[in-house]
Amino acid sequence: MTVATPAATKLTNYINGQWTESSATAWQDVVNPATGEVLARVPLTDAAEVSRAIEAAAAAYPEWRRTPPEDRIQPLFKLKQLLEEHVDGLGRILTQENGKTFAEGKAELRRAIENVEVACGIPTMMQGYNLEDVARGIDETMIRQPLGVVAAITPFNFPGMIPFWFLPYAIACGNTFILKPSERVPLTMRRAFELLEQCGLPKGVVNLVNGGKAAVDALLDHPKVRAISFVGSTPVAKYVYARAGANGKRAQCQGGAKNHVIILPDADMQMATQIISDSAFGCAGQRCLAVSVAVTVGEAQKTFRDSITDAASKLRVGNGLDDGVQMGPVITPQSKSRIESLIGAGEKQGAKVLLDGRGARIPKCEAGTFVKPTVLDGVSPTSELADTEIFGPVLSLVHADDMDEALAFLERSAYGNQASLFTSSGSAARRFRYEAPAGNIGINIGVAAPMAYFPFSGWKDSFFGVMHGQGRDAVEFYTEKKVVIERWAKEHSRKF
Ligand code: NAD
Repeated sequence: MTVATPAATKLTNYINGQWTESSATAWQDVVNPATGEVLARVPLTDAAEVSRAIEAAAAAYPEWRRTPPEDRIQPLFKLKQLLEEHVDGLGRILTQENGKTFAEGKAELRRAIENVEVACGIPTMMQGYNLEDVARGIDETMIRQPLGVVAAITPFNFPGMIPFWFLPYAIACGNTFILKPSERVPLTMRRAFELLEQCGLPKGVVNLVNGGKAAVDALLDHPKVRAISFVGSTPVAKYVYARAGANGKRAQCQGGAKNHVIILPDADMQMATQIISDSAFGCAGQRCLAVSVAVTVGEAQKTFRDSITDAASKLRVGNGLDDGVQMGPVITPQSKSRIESLIGAGEKQGAKVLLDGRGARIPKCEAGTFVKPTVLDGVSPTSELADTEIFGPVLSLVHADDMDEALAFLERSAYGNQASLFTSSGSAARRFRYEAPAGNIGINIGVAAPMAYFPFSGWKDSFFGVMHGQGRDAVEFYTEKKVVIERWAKEHSRKF
């Protein structure tokens, strides 16, 4: 149940440098998942209003594109400074709307800032290449040019970081940009855009439209949007990729995940337990890089089973703004009941519930949507639980006799966002790095999140597209190549 606040702020859109009241007919509550409090009302913006944002971005493009890259990055230096100064305020907003702890919120914002820093290198990163005398007296040059209007559609679980996988690179490359954040967590980006407003960007270069499917479809169908970046669940990622493609747009779509970690008997078990516990239960398991299935090999089975259950049972669950809280709620009542019913289904299919987080009651947070850490043992590799993205604080344990069998579990998965190995063997690590069927690999790492200067490399059903987010891939994605071949008559140069 939510506690309705009659005065809950009605959110606006940021279009053409103005905070604009939305004419949407449908609105949705933004709810603090720890307390049930309604924080704001978000407009589900319709296609006509999204079109106005696209037209504003299109009108701003010709002048922005002509602005030298060195000048285009100056607002980003200012943005970095403002994000640093306001990281606590942003972190609090993030925790209130998303539920993760204040420390997790601030850690996420550090990743956002890192992407702004990397995009400040665009004058170097955006350079092309050339060769003189490809034939006698003829020179050839590749130059990169921006695309025009580009848009990003982002999920609820990293409200502060994921928009910044795209925005800084897009505008530094000379594009104009529209963000459609998750309608469940629009407040962090509202604050970030208030900071962006102070950075001296010309109007229309960055725009923010709130909404859901109708706003997404409007971006996908409008002929002036040249490229779409999407992060969210796999069914929506596939839909966005297909519709963007059908409309002739460039698209990069990051989808869901089901991440495995393999624990070999020679791993440092204490370190492995601590790191895997943080990966599985941090952010209440609502990370696309959260470990969801732990595959123990040989005698690692018993040691790890006991140590992870013990570590998980000690985690302090509550309101992420309270001191000492290590894990917050899941995002909605629907999420909570979906996660709890998946635990129940796993149990019915023969898994043993070593630690049961269902029916959690948190003092002073009775209206919150909490699921406590849950550990399931003996999960059948062919069960629904082993294949389905749970997106909650649930770790499934499976056992393998050797590395071949363990790697076979990973091969079966439809997803390929991340795979991790815990070992002290260099050759096992090398084999894993070589063979594991995922785009982000961790060796004795629980959340293998690439730094901003590396691509965020999901594979299989975790990614649709060619160029990933962040770093050099972002520059490839947000530019198109033009090749110029030149010949100048000698007689002409002799005139001067
Ligand atoms: P979601 O797919 O429900 O929503 C993502 C975005 O798509 C939101 O902006 C939403 O408004 C929009 N959307 C939702 N349904 C739509 C529809 N039918 N048509 C058009 N647009 C639609 O995802 P979520 O629940 O916000 O986020 C969690 C998911 O995101 C998980 O599956 C998680 O694994 C994934 N994720 C992936 C990565 C990655 O890097 N691969 C990163 C973070 C999250």
